[in-house]
Amino acid sequence: MQDSEAGTGACLACTHFGLHPVMPSVDPSGRSKDEADSLCTTHRARMTEGTCVLCGRRQAWLVLHETSDIGSCRPCYAARFGEEAARDVEAVWRALDEAASL
Ligand SMILES: [Zn+2]
Ligand SMILES: [Zn+2]
Repeated sequence: MQDSEAGTGACLACTHFGLHPVMPSVDPSGRSKDEADSLCTTHRARMTEGTCVLCGRRQAWLVLHETSDIGSCRPCYAARFGEEAARDVEAVWRALDEAASL
């Protein structure tokens, strides 16, 4: 299977959040289907606990995508991508809520 996403062997969370240094994932072959194996040991542990992969102290607020368990808390997200971006996310959620309650 050829899946070039996020490169080979680099932790998906380190890459996504632009961390330095980028740590190697626990499954450098990239063959595992378990998304946890695409993370470094630190991020893997936090993801399995359901906490923010960046600080490990708070509940994950936003996950990478619908089927992902890799998430960050709001303060970490805002610190990385800006308060604006965090508000945009909340605006989308509000819109979805409103659409669902119609
Ligand atoms: Zn990592
Ligand atoms: Zn955090």
